Amino acid sequence: MAKIIDGKAIAAKIRAEISAEAARLKEKGIVPGLAVVLVGEDPASKVYVSMKEKACADVGIFSDEYKLPVETTEDELLALIEKLNADPKIHGILVQLPLPKQINTERVLEAISPDKDADGFHPYNVGRLVIGKPLFQPCTPYGVMVMLKEAGVELSGKEVVVVGRSNIVGKPVAFMCLQQNATVTLCHSKTRDLAGKVAQADVVIAAVGVPEMIKGAWIKEGAVVIDVGVNRVGEKKLVGDVEYAAASERASAITPVPGGVGPMTITMLLQNTLESAKRGM
Ligand code: NAP
Repeated sequence: MAKIIDGKAIAAKIRAEISAEAARLKEKGIVPGLAVVLVGEDPASKVYVSMKEKACADVGIFSDEYKLPVETTEDELLALIEKLNADPKIHGILVQLPLPKQINTERVLEAISPDKDADGFHPYNVGRLVIGKPLFQPCTPYGVMVMLKEAGVELSGKEVVVVGRSNIVGKPVAFMCLQQNATVTLCHSKTRDLAGKVAQADVVIAAVGVPEMIKGAWIKEGAVVIDVGVNRVGEKKLVGDVEYAAASERASAITPVPGGVGPMTITMLLQNTLESAKRGM
């Protein structure tokens, strides 16, 4: 049976380190600050925003919340971002997505200063990642890389297969693995013989959003499986993109869902804010 890569435990360890570092910065008169901007009333977004604020408070990061009405115009939001870009108390800015339809998301993300881009979605930060000189790294793939490191998985020379090519998970994690000298195959909905590709992988990273579509039988004996997928099945059950039970019989290590990659995402948002505050010293 595969070893379980425990995201909750790794996240708790990293958060304790962030907390200690934030306390050291405080002694020097610096409090890392994150601005969280929520436009509208989307229930899931509200939950995420409150989780992010609580996480900040737990580690000693100052968080400043801006709740704007659903009818906010793009110009009003851009004006707020401009103000936050200039605010020395703020080291990271996060605009919760999705935005209401009258607002152009790309324009908003590009208005955030690349030096305060806590989500790492600004094209400048995407470009830095691609050339191997990352500044802010997107939180979920950054979390995946920390999990691999904490689990002692050496990527150099390994075959990594990433399934899913979104801008927030698949593409950035592929470049991060490439930077660690893995040989990376990036698969998507038009990939032929996905099963054959996955079967070659020493490390499989799944970010698809389709419940258990990666079958346990595809996994190479001894491979490491990182499942980013979070899919609701029925009323209460959450499952990943990988057929967990069957995959754990073949893999050497695997992340569960829930309790795998999920807890890492907010943790890396805290890490990004802390690193930004330190860069500004
Ligand atoms: P997304 O933007 O919907 O992208 C899904 C990707 O999967 C696309 O590249 C798509 O290919 C590919 N795909 C879809 N069906 C496929 C198939 N049958 N075979 C091969 N590839 C297929 O999703 P995302 O935002 O990256 O999220 C992926 C999953 O991760 C979701 O379950 C999401 O909830 C989860 N997630 C979790 C966290 C976390 O904190 N744990 C954070 C972010 C996302 P095309 O490009 O060809 O359409």
